[in-house]
Amino acid sequence: MKKSVPLIVGNWKCNPMKTIEAKKLAADTAKLFKKSDIPYVAIAPTNLHISTVEKKIAKSPIMLAAQNVSPYTVGAHTGEQSVSQLKDSGVTMVIVGHSERRAAGETDQDVLVKTQAVLAAKLIPIICIGEKKRDSNGNFFKEVEQQIKSFARELTPAQQKKVIIAYEPIWAIGTGQTATAEDVKEMQLFIEKILTKLHDRKTAQSVRLLYGGSVKPHNAAELHTIGSMGGFLVGGASLKAADFIAITKAVL
Ligand code: PEP
Repeated sequence: MKKSVPLIVGNWKCNPMKTIEAKKLAADTAKLFKKSDIPYVAIAPTNLHISTVEKKIAKSPIMLAAQNVSPYTVGAHTGEQSVSQLKDSGVTMVIVGHSERRAAGETDQDVLVKTQAVLAAKLIPIICIGEKKRDSNGNFFKEVEQQIKSFARELTPAQQKKVIIAYEPIWAIGTGQTATAEDVKEMQLFIEKILTKLHDRKTAQSVRLLYGGSVKPHNAAELHTIGSMGGFLVGGASLKAADFIAITKAVL
């Protein structure tokens, strides 16, 4: 994927309730997103809906993503889905360390192991980072730095370049509150600075960054233009095909 072309990823989380609804949402999204359209677009449904969605987007340029992956490759691990199984189902990107998974107990070490599993399968990890809250002293930068270090120092520059980092301040996820476009820009520069320290400038600049946190059609253009990240990770708004596609148009 060319870094100059934005990427918009829709995270459907634990939605919708029924397969028939997933089928319709995928079909509506694919219908609105034409073959010739840019940017890059991906949808992350639940694992149960992956094959349904895969069929509906097959003729469109929309890519398939997963919301999570098992650290295990195969065997006696009840309830897990391995990266090979996801790949076999048509998945090309995997969200790792979403804050909702971290809140359920996922650690930085888990995030690293899953990232390595995704890279080993030649899929693209989208690693989520972001502070729980903002404070006027800027301590939240340390929280973000720690999260980046926990995986980035274990990756080679070549691996690092294949990783997408989604900056998702937790206070902005599903709350209707967004970081300001200036905050997003500041974080873009900060993440690049940390990656430059851990690797080198060229590697840092080749890593795609996404912003996530209450991105909607009305704020997407400003967050993208001023925030200057490489696209968005979209939750709630990806559940309405028209809103999701409006976001993809806003970044052009
Ligand atoms: C998300 O789930 O990653 C997310 C950013 O959600 P929302 O867009 O609803 O804030």
